[in-house]
Amino acid sequence: MKKISRRNFSRIIGGAATAALGSNLFPAPSLASARPRVVIIGGGAGGATAARHLAQDFSGIDVTLVEANKHYTASFFSNRYVGGINTLESITHGYETLGKKFGINVVHDLALRIDGEKRTVTLKGGDTLSWDRLVVAPGIDFKFNSIDGYDEAVGDIMPHAYKSDAQVSILRRQLREMKDGGLFIISVPKRPYRCPPAPYERAAMAAFYLKNHKPRSKILILDAKDEYPLSEVLSEIWESHYQGMVEWVPSEFGGEVMAVDAKTRTLITGEEKFRADVANVIPPHHAGKIAQVSGLADQSGWCPVNPLTFESSLVPAIHLVGDAIDGGDMPKAAFSANSQALACSDSVGAALTGVKAKKHVLKNTCFFLAAGDYGLKLGGTYKATPKRLEGVSGFSSQVGEPESLRRKTADEGKAWYKSMTKDMFGEIKGEN
Ligand SMILES: Cc1cc2nc3c(=O)[nH]c(=O)nc-3n(C[C@H](O)[C@H](O)[C@H](O)COP(=O)(O)OP(=O)(O)OC[C@H]3O[C@@H](n4cnc5c(N)ncnc54)[C@H](O)[C@@H]3O)c2cc1C
Repeated sequence: MKKISRRNFSRIIGGAATAALGSNLFPAPSLASARPRVVIIGGGAGGATAARHLAQDFSGIDVTLVEANKHYTASFFSNRYVGGINTLESITHGYETLGKKFGINVVHDLALRIDGEKRTVTLKGGDTLSWDRLVVAPGIDFKFNSIDGYDEAVGDIMPHAYKSDAQVSILRRQLREMKDGGLFIISVPKRPYRCPPAPYERAAMAAFYLKNHKPRSKILILDAKDEYPLSEVLSEIWESHYQGMVEWVPSEFGGEVMAVDAKTRTLITGEEKFRADVANVIPPHHAGKIAQVSGLADQSGWCPVNPLTFESSLVPAIHLVGDAIDGGDMPKAAFSANSQALACSDSVGAALTGVKAKKHVLKNTCFFLAAGDYGLKLGGTYKATPKRLEGVSGFSSQVGEPESLRRKTADEGKAWYKSMTKDMFGEIKGEN
């Protein structure tokens, strides 16, 4: 591709679009003749939010969303499905409204390759899409080789149930088929991993189900860490709601799972072997595969970005949001991904149209359901500095709060789900 200077390019297309060049000198071929094009890879919490806001707030931009699946099952309420509180249908969403109401070109295909120099994305179906700016939000993939004996196929026997796919249904079915008096084991990886409180919410939701249907059963959490979020409040709840049912083994007492034997559903730590009736193995993860194979992730396995614009520190004109990035102090959560996507879409829109980007306060709240209408939460606010996303303030549910507050928090969680999924998909599902 012929290189031209920023000065010459701005003469060709006029002042307003100059900002579209951002940090690189490879002009997009479309800018002089057509509307700027943004392609977004991944229609989850980060990508769908970015697509909707770009289309809604910048009418002059063509927005294409590439999403591998026709439907999105929200991981972020999937523990409630495990607990029997939500149906699978109620947490499964389609992309139709994004096309019909917001004019987004939704392409259901798998992005295989990104060429940052030619500014293209190649899809499994054979098409190649050109872009002026690319937003990559593929979420996570698993480091299968890090637990001996655990690969993708074993995942169907000892499900991770940690992505927006069919796995959570396998886990729920196994729990329903488990005998009363059975042992359910959850293995938790080291940080950073997706939604730090989620494995413990899963334990609570499984306990909620088992207490009502198979009360002699036990839950064992094998942890690769020595701490967990909301642990003081949860210690109280394990006692008050699920007496004797839930046990936690931290790393210092041999909780880290090193290997599994799928045939016997055995989890092997440095010190002991645990035979499960149902095993939920959550392996360590890294940024989604497309980010790995496209040179967007560094040795940590996560994607470094400029926190002010969410532009990749490694490949210019490509932005990243959500669980795939090195989020500094921001936890990997749907709320975080949504908050980052709002700031990112503003920055991408500003780069392509010359409109000044707004300032954003980045936020996260993780809502946690411990029993039917017994809600907890923890979260914080963050500021983008040139070097990292830094925590500014935090909050968390406390020990001894009244039941009325727990109910209010549970209601807040439901309201958040509605507004979150509306922001992603442009509509609210009646059932929630
Ligand atoms: C059990 C559980 C409970 C949770 N609870 C909460 C909670 O209460 N609150 C909260 O805020 N967060 C919660 N989370 C975390 C939340 O689900 C994730 O942080 C969030 O989904 C991350 O958003 P994302 O856009 O980065 O990835 P995702 O939402 O996973 O979206 C990624 C999308 O990209 C698509 N994709 C990937 N690669 C490609 C490709 N090459 N081509 C095309 N498409 C591709 C995938 O199909 C997927 O739809 C929970 C997670 C789990 C597992």
